[in-house]
Amino acid sequence: MKVLKFGGTSVGSVESIRAVVEIVKQERQQNNSIILVVSAISGLTNLLTKLSEEASSGSFDENDLKLFQEKHFEIVKALIDVPNQNPILTKLKLLMNELEALLEGVEILKELSPQTKDLILSFGERCSALLIAKVMQEHVGNSLAINASDYILTDHNFGQANVIEEKSFQNIQQLAKDYSDKLLVVTGFIAANEEGRVTTLGRGGSDYTAALIGAALHAEQIEIWTDVNGMMTADPRFVNKAFSLENLSYTEAMELSYFGAKVIYPPTMAPAFKLRIPILIKNTFQPDFEGTKIQFDSQPTDYPIKGISSIKDIALVNIKGSGLVGKLGFSGKLFSLLAQHHINIVLITQSSSEHSITLAIHHNEVEKAKQLIEEEFCLEIAAKWLEPIEIEENLGIIAIVGENMKKMVGVSGKLFYALGRNGINVRAIAQGSSEYNISVVINENDLSKALNAVHDAFFNHLKKTIHVFNVGVGNIGSTFLNQLEKQKDFLAKNNDIEIKLVGLSNSKKMMFDENGINLSNWKNELENSSSPADLNEFIQKMKQYNLPNCVFVDNTASSDLPNYYKQIFESSISVVTCNKIANSSSYQEYKKLKETARKYGIDFLYETNVGAGLPIISVLKDLRMSGDQILKIEAILSGTISYIFNHFKGENTFAEIVKKAQELGYTEPDPRDDLSGIDFMRKMLILARDNGYEIEAGDVKIDSILPKSCLEAATVEDFYQELVNENDYFEKIKHQADEEQKVIRYIGILEDGKISISLELVDNQHPFYALSGSDNIISFTTARYKERPLVVKGPGAGAEVTAAGVFADLVNISSIR
Ligand code: ADP
Ligand code: ASP
Ligand code: MG
Repeated sequence: MKVLKFGGTSVGSVESIRAVVEIVKQERQQNNSIILVVSAISGLTNLLTKLSEEASSGSFDENDLKLFQEKHFEIVKALIDVPNQNPILTKLKLLMNELEALLEGVEILKELSPQTKDLILSFGERCSALLIAKVMQEHVGNSLAINASDYILTDHNFGQANVIEEKSFQNIQQLAKDYSDKLLVVTGFIAANEEGRVTTLGRGGSDYTAALIGAALHAEQIEIWTDVNGMMTADPRFVNKAFSLENLSYTEAMELSYFGAKVIYPPTMAPAFKLRIPILIKNTFQPDFEGTKIQFDSQPTDYPIKGISSIKDIALVNIKGSGLVGKLGFSGKLFSLLAQHHINIVLITQSSSEHSITLAIHHNEVEKAKQLIEEEFCLEIAAKWLEPIEIEENLGIIAIVGENMKKMVGVSGKLFYALGRNGINVRAIAQGSSEYNISVVINENDLSKALNAVHDAFFNHLKKTIHVFNVGVGNIGSTFLNQLEKQKDFLAKNNDIEIKLVGLSNSKKMMFDENGINLSNWKNELENSSSPADLNEFIQKMKQYNLPNCVFVDNTASSDLPNYYKQIFESSISVVTCNKIANSSSYQEYKKLKETARKYGIDFLYETNVGAGLPIISVLKDLRMSGDQILKIEAILSGTISYIFNHFKGENTFAEIVKKAQELGYTEPDPRDDLSGIDFMRKMLILARDNGYEIEAGDVKIDSILPKSCLEAATVEDFYQELVNENDYFEKIKHQADEEQKVIRYIGILEDGKISISLELVDNQHPFYALSGSDNIISFTTARYKERPLVVKGPGAGAEVTAAGVFADLVNISSIR
């Protein structure tokens, strides 16, 4: 014997009911004896709630009532043969009339008692049971609709009545005996009290009805047929990486559903648990999928937790005061007070000093709870033993659940790291002593972000998603995006990383797509975007998305963007940038950014600020972190200047070489921007600051390569003319170098906190002698690398290597490792 419960969506449309018929036929073919339990058509319990509440305030919408009727009639017309339609249409119509009369009564009285509300809600299940029984009669045969109010007995707690099991079980057993030859279709959700008044078992209660029938009849299995592939690691509506769980223990299922996994109603587990009847959660729309089996033992899995669930609309009630210390019975009194008034406490935490108790309560009930507590403890409050009761609203709870948690260390560490890393503030924490769950109270608008971040953290075989917002699609930006596109399959396959470009902007347009902008077509899409670029709006939008593992990429050289970094960090979003402006402006600014990033525990990565993709910033950091002491840094960090001096040989004049460099795209439009050494200076400044020195641009000693006349020339053309005029000056240097068998190098030195940049002639013993093309070179003399310095050398400019450096920073963001 099995009980099959079909939820609202399973009986909600012609197509889904066809699927239900097939499932039932299969059971019949295998000669299985079954009883069906059905919910109201999906959405109709909500509609009845709305109708009843509107009626009680004076008028309900006739159209809603029509809609209620139409939903049923539509199914009759599609699934029942025309000659057989009339009797069922009449029966349904009679129920509708009764419902209408009831609503009108409520409208007149302007009063809706819980008892009347339950009666009104019962029409959803009563109609669907009639309907499904008729469909079964037609397609399977010998079916009968049963109103569970005639069999399941409860107390008077309307809205969430408590079942009187013994009597109910006897009735159900009798029912099964009386109709052993029939295919019974029983109403879920509803029951009745001793006076025969209709009660309901709480929203989602049809699952519970199925379990009660299963337990009464010692069924071999209880099947909950719904619209998802069983119980999943998280609600698939919020976490699209959620996956189905093969099995769960009753306790795990209970905890997950208690903390919001709506797929099964928590009380369902109790009757099944007592008799160890397995509960199977199956998908009506994919009946071959195995689904989830809920049973006595928890099966081990590869993960420390089974799933994550969440509840919204939570408020916290804080009760504080010295009067609580050592007061025997205070909490008992508090809890029974709330229980008496049917206020459900979702979570409790108590400080160890007993100075405060915090209760999480559904927000609908919080005002009432506050009032009750204030009345009950008015004397304590007057005597200042208790402080005034505080309420915090707009909160939610996320809970991680699993019996394996108990045996593993580091579970809560992982949870809180994922939350902290994503800037999610934890307001209260509770861990059941059973260690089957850890639940945390957070801001309601962080729920989705938290679920996804925590899911990524625990189910690490899944691809981790990095959400990227990129500004700048110039040379570096567009190369970066092309690299992302090229590498995405590799990253997914080998590094389990999925990169989603969610926001993109250049100086004219911007665009967003939470599902990821198409990386092979971003150019077109950006051009055709209807949103004009607006940096402020871009940043606000990025914050509003509130996505986990979020990274802002600044691929510009703009001085505007760094102004936003601080607020980006404050939203717990990491920044990756090739833009040097932020780190090379005032020391104060640099320090503020570093401190903010550290405070919010996120990454600020800018490897490409110095030497493009070469590992320089990271080497410096690693040396320092591992306790080495940097004694001296010598570097050539201008690819342009390197190129120029590497080619300033033989017959070539200096002016010719500069021109050539410009033609090859190695210089800025005005080559003096490179030759002035300013860019080089910025890089040295960043290295010095990262090495712990408080230093400003003004403190750097730069020997200019160029004579004054060249620097002062009004236009680029004039500048070239001045280079020709000063030819002798440059030739002299070249000549001297030749004579001494040396080469000309523009070298930056950091030593004792001082930076100098100057032209040097170096011989073949010098590590910088053999530098070719536009290469950069940097040598670190440290306590460990004293005799032979550590040297990093390679191409230090160009879009390809710079973009690759930005890319490397992105995948090095520590939240994804
Ligand atoms: P039914 O009408 O069949 O009773 P419900 O709407 O009550 O269905 O429950 C199914 C829904 O539960 C799913 O559509 C899904 O959105 C939601 N849900 C929440 N948490 C989970 C979870 N952990 N696993 C599966 N579904 C979940
Ligand atoms: N129809 C009821 C509800 O929507 C019961 C159920 O579907 O389980 O809550
Ligand atoms: Mg349900």
